[in-house]
Amino acid sequence: MDFSLSPEIDVVRRRVRDFVEQRLIPLESDRANYDEHENIHPAVLKRMRAEAKEACLWALQMPKHRGGGGLPVIGMAACYEEMNRSIFGPVVFNSAAPDDGNMIVLEKVATEAQKAKWLQPIVDGAVQSSFAMTEPDGCGSDPGLTYTRAERVGNDRWRITGRKHFITGAGEAKHFILIARTSEDERKGLTAFLFHADQPGWEIVRRIPIMGPEEHGGHCELRFDGLEIPDENVLMGVGDGLKLTQIRLGTARLTHCMRWLGMGRRALEIAMERIRSRDSFGMKLIDRESVQGLIGQAAMELEMGRLLTMKAAWVLDQGGFARKEVSMAKIVVADALHKAVDTALQLLGARGYSKDTPVEWMYRYARQARLVDGASEVHRMVIAGFLRREGADFFAWGARD
Ligand SMILES: Cc1cc2nc3c(=O)[nH]c(=O)nc-3n(C[C@H](O)[C@H](O)[C@H](O)COP(=O)(O)OP(=O)(O)OC[C@H]3O[C@@H](n4cnc5c(N)ncnc54)[C@H](O)[C@@H]3O)c2cc1C
Repeated sequence: MDFSLSPEIDVVRRRVRDFVEQRLIPLESDRANYDEHENIHPAVLKRMRAEAKEACLWALQMPKHRGGGGLPVIGMAACYEEMNRSIFGPVVFNSAAPDDGNMIVLEKVATEAQKAKWLQPIVDGAVQSSFAMTEPDGCGSDPGLTYTRAERVGNDRWRITGRKHFITGAGEAKHFILIARTSEDERKGLTAFLFHADQPGWEIVRRIPIMGPEEHGGHCELRFDGLEIPDENVLMGVGDGLKLTQIRLGTARLTHCMRWLGMGRRALEIAMERIRSRDSFGMKLIDRESVQGLIGQAAMELEMGRLLTMKAAWVLDQGGFARKEVSMAKIVVADALHKAVDTALQLLGARGYSKDTPVEWMYRYARQARLVDGASEVHRMVIAGFLRREGADFFAWGARD
């Protein structure tokens, strides 16, 4: 068993780390670098994206022939962790949700014609994209509740009616992946469609205010009332919507974990710097056993999440689906992020609650981790399902799914 990174991956990881350290972290302390939704300001983002491209650190998850870095999933894990040591990192490298997950699924399942039209502009950073699945009082944890419908019109088109909400990036996105019901079949009742923001027949009802900082384009509620989509914009086949969702969310959940580990590490770094120098009752905070207990526990939980993330990444690189591995990583990393950020905030004292460090930003952001892309309770249910079916094989060594 070898836990080291290959020299090729480690070179890229170090270059990402240097870029984050030198170009991005210094931006975080100046409010002028933020937009009104507490993300990196678009003008600053444009500048930093140009630098990341110039440094060949752009879209590392995409194949080289598309202008990406061609990294395997293990390489992504190592680099995404470094990226999110800055709260501005992932979007600068074109590795932020939801574009990241949308690019990965399109690269895996779209036809060459669909890739040229819908994927390449996202890889180039020319457009943003959204993934529209969740519905008010419909599809959420249970995709079987999807009520947004696609009905056949003529021989070659579909007409969409329904609603979606919490659709990240929708306020800015041009390319959308939409999940809609095309039949009542339990396994084959959903279909994935592509549409462009400029098409008529849909609208943004509102940008939903949230407790944390927002991705560019926010989290929106959408209404569909007659959007027409031609057959050529069906992804995979009619009835493959659930399959596409599983393919998309599998890797997207794991890339969340990769990024969250970086954010958790950074929170602990900020706390470590403070407790090394802060005096209290005659000694440095770092020399107190109770403080060591807090920070040691948080670091250990991050490392546990990291091992699960790397195991799942390895299974994906071996060609497996890594469903149970991804579910385990998602639960543990979401909790570890929470623990790391909460611990950092506590040890910083009042400063942690202020906007003088990015820790309060991370704290508000971190709460979504246990909900998005499957609540922890649902992932536990998935893991239990595997244990029930696989018995002792659940714990088998190797990359079997
Ligand atoms: C910031 C943010 C961004 C998002 N971005 C997107 C996006 O881009 N596209 C998109 O389509 N969606 C998006 N979502 C939606 C997100 O994926 C859903 O919120 C998530 O799948 C949960 O669905 P729900 O909110 O309907 O909760 P529900 O399904 O109503 O579940 C509520 C709670 O009930 C419990 N629960 C549910 N089912 C079970 C079960 N089987 N066993 C035990 N407990 C259970 C859990 O505690 C769960 O948290 C986003 C959400 C947020 C907060």
